[in-house]
Amino acid sequence: MSARKVRVRFAPSPTGPLHIGGVRTALYNYLFARQHGGDMILRIEDTDSQRFVPGAEEYINEALHWLGIKIDEGVREGGSYGPYKQSERRDIYRAHVKQLLDADRAYIAFDTPAELEAARAATPNFQYDASTRLQMRNSLSLPREEVERLLADGTPYVVRFRIEPGREVVVNDLLRGEVKISSSVLDDKVLYKSADDLPTYHLANIVDDHLMEVSHVIRGEEWLPSAPLHVLLYEAFGWSDTRPDFVHLPLLLKPDGKGKLSKRDGDRLGFPVFPLEWHDPKSGDVSSGYREKGYLPEAVVNFLALLGWNPGDDTELMSMDELIQKFSFDHCSRSGAKFAFEKGKWFNHEYLQRLSDAELAQLFKPVLKRHGVDPEAYSPEYLEQVVGLVKSRINFVDDLWDQASFFFEAPTTYDPKAIKKRWSPEMPAILGQLIELLRDLPDFAGPSTEAAVLEWIASKGYHLGNVMNAFRLTVVGECRGPHMFDITRLLGLDETVKRLERGIATITPAE
Ligand code: GLU
Repeated sequence: MSARKVRVRFAPSPTGPLHIGGVRTALYNYLFARQHGGDMILRIEDTDSQRFVPGAEEYINEALHWLGIKIDEGVREGGSYGPYKQSERRDIYRAHVKQLLDADRAYIAFDTPAELEAARAATPNFQYDASTRLQMRNSLSLPREEVERLLADGTPYVVRFRIEPGREVVVNDLLRGEVKISSSVLDDKVLYKSADDLPTYHLANIVDDHLMEVSHVIRGEEWLPSAPLHVLLYEAFGWSDTRPDFVHLPLLLKPDGKGKLSKRDGDRLGFPVFPLEWHDPKSGDVSSGYREKGYLPEAVVNFLALLGWNPGDDTELMSMDELIQKFSFDHCSRSGAKFAFEKGKWFNHEYLQRLSDAELAQLFKPVLKRHGVDPEAYSPEYLEQVVGLVKSRINFVDDLWDQASFFFEAPTTYDPKAIKKRWSPEMPAILGQLIELLRDLPDFAGPSTEAAVLEWIASKGYHLGNVMNAFRLTVVGECRGPHMFDITRLLGLDETVKRLERGIATITPAE
């Protein structure tokens, strides 16, 4: 590893919502930068005007912010290496294209789309390279005067990188070691298009990484095939000495079966593949996001960090600070990581348990409102005790309603299966006695209530399970939930009795 200052960049193209794999790339960049006291750059690679999607850049910023991935230099943050948006760097790219043309490392090509199509049709596996370029219409094959005339006429052209065959190109990847390939298999990639006066990804990416003094290029494995070309570009510019180290991260794979994780897998198996909900500006389609599904950002970060990396032991729960401390490419895997979304739910569950009851109660308030309950009608203590009683059963904040709605609304229906199992013709009379007993207790909310009820059941020789479950049925509506006397303590005597009476009046034993 070079001794220079660590500077990394996350360089998304604003062509749609940031995919969860892109989020992991951003996270690994961030962990590495923070660990080394380095800088994290956010560069917007918007040179493909055809694929630009409005709102995508804002989405990227919002997603990174939500996850706690802090950017040091970028469009919003500023910095001394800007502009950080490639469409605002045209002059820089133009000058660099000229540099390659002047040094004969690139050439101008006039082939029209139809001509390229014809070449492809005529030659199977046609590639624009040293073996074919002289048959094409470019500044290497045409007389100089003609090139000048075409340019003077404003003929659209592209600039292609001149790759010489027969060379071994070595990509040094911190994860994969030396990846070698012959330059003969590479084609003369387009670096610039006159039609929109914009460079292609390859040129802009290399020029910017160099000018922004990027020390490590950490990106998805899908970019590995571009790396040899990038190595040659660095060389052509004379920048080989300061070339960044490469790290190509393994792909995120489908949770089941083979292949790359796709949005369709998420739709099929019911999990989001985007950090935030995305509203497609063209189609109006809405894609679900981790934030809106009720995931905590800390849980998403922890989950993603472990998709392709481990701390060297079996520690799973790690805060951002712990991840920053422990992260290392030595423990990154080279093979793809299965997107075990169920594990993501587990992380969320764990992180919810770590919140204080007061924090959780705050998160519960909007859920209550959505269900027509005014949270302000309850004391903070009440809300905190409710969430404290049910939180061990939830994976998402939304689950709180499912687990605790009866603390806010008396049941209006009763689980028929439980009635069948627990409600005998004698039950109304027995629960009638229970009401009397509860009313006579000196301290209904106190700890002695439970003992008194159990003692009464035993003294009468009633069936403990049947009476307690019938009691629960009237209060909760079904036979589940936290400890019965925790529930009644919170509901209070009046509400408990009301529910018992209502149950007695409305529940009829199954035939
Ligand atoms: N703009 C590319 C992307 O969308 C950047 C790839 C890279 O990091 O070099 O991912």
